[in-house]
Amino acid sequence: KPKQIAIYGKGGIGKSTTTSNITAALSVAGYKVMQVGCDPKNDSTVTLRGGNYIPTILDTLREKKSAKASEVVFSGFNGVHCVEAGGPAPGVGCAGRGIITAIELLKQQRVFEELDLDYVIYDVLGDVVCGGFAVPIREGIAEHVFTVSSSDFMAIYAANNLFTGIKKYSNNGGALLGGVIANSVNAPYAKHIIDDFVARTNTQVMEYVPRSITVTQAELQGKTTIEAFPDSEQAQVYKKLADRIANHTESRVPEPLSAEALRKWAADWSDQILAVEAGEVRSSGAS
Ligand code: ADP
Ligand code: SF4
Ligand code: MG
Repeated sequence: KPKQIAIYGKGGIGKSTTTSNITAALSVAGYKVMQVGCDPKNDSTVTLRGGNYIPTILDTLREKKSAKASEVVFSGFNGVHCVEAGGPAPGVGCAGRGIITAIELLKQQRVFEELDLDYVIYDVLGDVVCGGFAVPIREGIAEHVFTVSSSDFMAIYAANNLFTGIKKYSNNGGALLGGVIANSVNAPYAKHIIDDFVARTNTQVMEYVPRSITVTQAELQGKTTIEAFPDSEQAQVYKKLADRIANHTESRVPEPLSAEALRKWAADWSDQILAVEAGEVRSSGAS
């Protein structure tokens, strides 16, 4: 049975970029990996496929009512398996329901067994924490959840909402939290903010991923950094991250901050960040 992982985060924060690099790195390390895009944007797997989009499961099902594995699973970089769940027609139907339908098709076609997968990684939109997008957590589809966040308040706000969702379903067999992937962390204050947030919410940072022009160059080629620049520093960061995720076993129930506590925490940091940048370093965040 493959290890199933869900990666959440605010829109535009770097989920698909990070997920695709993890998928590519795990594949290079010799594992059989499938990436399942669960964002109605349908672009999760493009950098694994030379910049090309694949038909989504929901589009295919809308056309023909049923589908074979070969019509919805596509091969990408180094033989990784790419799937896009797709979304409902705009303005109609539930995106979460769509995720269930897509995953049911993969199960019904026994895709995970046939491909003998080691890892299935779901790339899930995390702005919305409605019941729909909580599906991979709630339905026990994923075992471990990771979230991509920068130190921006809106990204942390989305991560904190996700923690609330995970905690809610944790008593009923829901997935638990593996940790936070800190993306676009370059400035010292950014690292301090993320460190403080994970300390306060009973979680951990899996890796600090810098914002890098190497990622941009690779994306412009329609590739992951792992494929386009395998010897770059950024590729080493993604390999370390993939390795940590591959070896991760113990996930936890996070302790989200209340809306009020999060607001106050943010305001305290507003007073602190200039001091941190000026080198008056404090190790454990706002008091
Ligand atoms: P999401 O899937 O969360 O919506 P994407 O992975 O599509 O976000 O990333 C949004 C944009 O940010 C992309 O153009 C991507 O190349 C860029 N990006 C993400 N992470 C990094 C990084 N570490 N360095 C440089 N660019 C990045
Ligand atoms: Fe959309 Fe979520 Fe409502 Fe489903 S539950 S329709 S995904 S907002
Ligand atoms: Mg995406």
